[in-house]
Amino acid sequence: IEERMRRMERYMGLGSLAAGLHHEIKNPLTALSLHVQLLEEQIAEDNPSEDVRQMLNVIKTEMARVGGVLEGFRDLASSGQLNLAPVDLMNLIQRQVELATPQAEQQNIQIQTVIKCDLSKEIPADRIRLEQVLLNLILNAMEAMPEGGTLTVTVTEVDGNVQVEVADTGKGIPEDLHDKVFDPYFTTKNEGTGLGLALCDKIMNQHQGNLSFHSSERGTQFQLTLPR
Ligand code: ADP
Ligand code: MG
Repeated sequence: IEERMRRMERYMGLGSLAAGLHHEIKNPLTALSLHVQLLEEQIAEDNPSEDVRQMLNVIKTEMARVGGVLEGFRDLASSGQLNLAPVDLMNLIQRQVELATPQAEQQNIQIQTVIKCDLSKEIPADRIRLEQVLLNLILNAMEAMPEGGTLTVTVTEVDGNVQVEVADTGKGIPEDLHDKVFDPYFTTKNEGTGLGLALCDKIMNQHQGNLSFHSSERGTQFQLTLPR
């Protein structure tokens, strides 16, 4: 519990700063995007070289990245009240799996869903945030399997709570990084923001739920629990 409290404290007071920063940067960023797009249309008429196209792509990718970091930071720092409503968990999981499927197919990843408990009763949760959590876990799992593998989403009931496990057959998380993966901005990826798990952890805490994981060289299993 102490560790949980410490993690929560990290985000407090940051909310308004993050919202302000988001506001101040988002507007110029939107203007930049628009002008890059206009520039692209202009250049397209002059039959640009591959180099020029490449440069424009870099600009667009990096701008999208700035936007992503900004949004991640705001989401992580905002104290935002949960919007609780009955959620059909089965449906929610299916939709996130569907979102991930095109990428999974490209990467030669099989996705399977295993339901081991009764989900006919809806569960109180903030649907949008829970979707964020699931999608983040699924994306992390896929990113851990660049050479393909199996992603399994299993739903069970543990001590009256619903547990969703996202398991991959990737290379695992080295033991010495286990304490770090939930830290904001901790990433081992070139293109990572390191905000995914910090946000997932925060959202699960807000739900009075929990997020934990097990990992070995044969893969990683993230488990979230939600009170019924
Ligand atoms: P990001 O995905 O942007 O790096 P996250 O907060 O989602 O940020 O994850 C932090 C780090 O935790 C990742 O960079 C990776 O090293 C590790 N990680 C998370 N999920 C997995 C997984 N399923 N398998 C292996 N490593 C993982
Ligand atoms: Mg991630």
